[in-house]
Amino acid sequence: MNIQENFCPKCGGPTKNDGICNKCLAESIKWIVAEPRVVCVFCPTCGSIKQGNTWSDTTLERDVLAEELAIGALNVHPDVQDLRLSGSSYEPSPNRTKCMIHAEGTLYGIPMKEDLAVLIAWKKEQCDRCSRLSGGYYEGVIQVRATDRTPDTHERGRVESIATSVEDNLIESGERLSFVSRIDNIKDGVDIVISSHHIGDLITKQITSELGGKTTRHPKLFGERDGKKIYRITYLVRLPRYRRGDVIEVGNRYYEVRSVESGTLKVFDLQEGIMNVIREDDSYRIVGNVRDAQYVTVSFIDGDMAGILDPDTFMPISIPALAWLHLAEGSEFRILRDRENDRIIPVG
Ligand SMILES: [Zn+2]
Ligand SMILES: [Zn+2]
Repeated sequence: MNIQENFCPKCGGPTKNDGICNKCLAESIKWIVAEPRVVCVFCPTCGSIKQGNTWSDTTLERDVLAEELAIGALNVHPDVQDLRLSGSSYEPSPNRTKCMIHAEGTLYGIPMKEDLAVLIAWKKEQCDRCSRLSGGYYEGVIQVRATDRTPDTHERGRVESIATSVEDNLIESGERLSFVSRIDNIKDGVDIVISSHHIGDLITKQITSELGGKTTRHPKLFGERDGKKIYRITYLVRLPRYRRGDVIEVGNRYYEVRSVESGTLKVFDLQEGIMNVIREDDSYRIVGNVRDAQYVTVSFIDGDMAGILDPDTFMPISIPALAWLHLAEGSEFRILRDRENDRIIPVG
């Protein structure tokens, strides 16, 4: 059976269709159209863009963004196949970008071509984050303090870099309104002003998991937004009394603190040379920290005694050659001085 050949009523050409041929059909359809003008609201401070009512960060260059917006302004007939687009742009004025889009595709088997122009109008508006930042908005303050002492330089440095890296991660993951507004390094410790409770929870959790200690939260009502009560929270982070490397005296024995975890201290017994776990208790006396230990050299071994030069007085003295130190003539090790008992403590 032969397929019936018809003639197109428009151009008179042969067609397998009942009505007009594919070529006339394709030509009668506006296969691709573009909105001639698109307004793009952006933040002049941070470059975020607003779509609908939502702000989002973008790392795209302006011309790339303009072409993306222009492509978003296209409306393509659903029967078009093999759509290919290419574009170029220029800036006729500082707040306008003109995008030229060249489009090719196939409609009912007929190749199609079209050049379209979209004008992007850039409009400046301060974004939600920048307006909070410049307005000094905050939802909490983290106060980092230490028990019976002030945080040391190492702890202060860690606190600041934890706060900064948590902020970086949140911004990376698209959480725009969580940021650190200010970090104040003060005499008693470190104060961190934060814009959301979420970032406060994350920062305090990481500080205590790294440096030990506890966090207590003290919320205070300060207003309402969209019918929701807003609280400002003061997070008090209390770093532990003992730090890694502290040498403590417990019942006339010396231990080096290796870690502090929820109520227990992992310690190194400086007499026996073994690890031990003891209860965290504020009553232990802190003798010093191994960071401040001094190097000495063994000048002789006599039975279970070792001779060294006292690094403060340069006088020869003898101290017990503890088995775990594995001392030999000429070997080096470190000592701390317990000034209260005038004792020398080898720390390895
Ligand atoms: Zn035709
Ligand atoms: Zn902004």
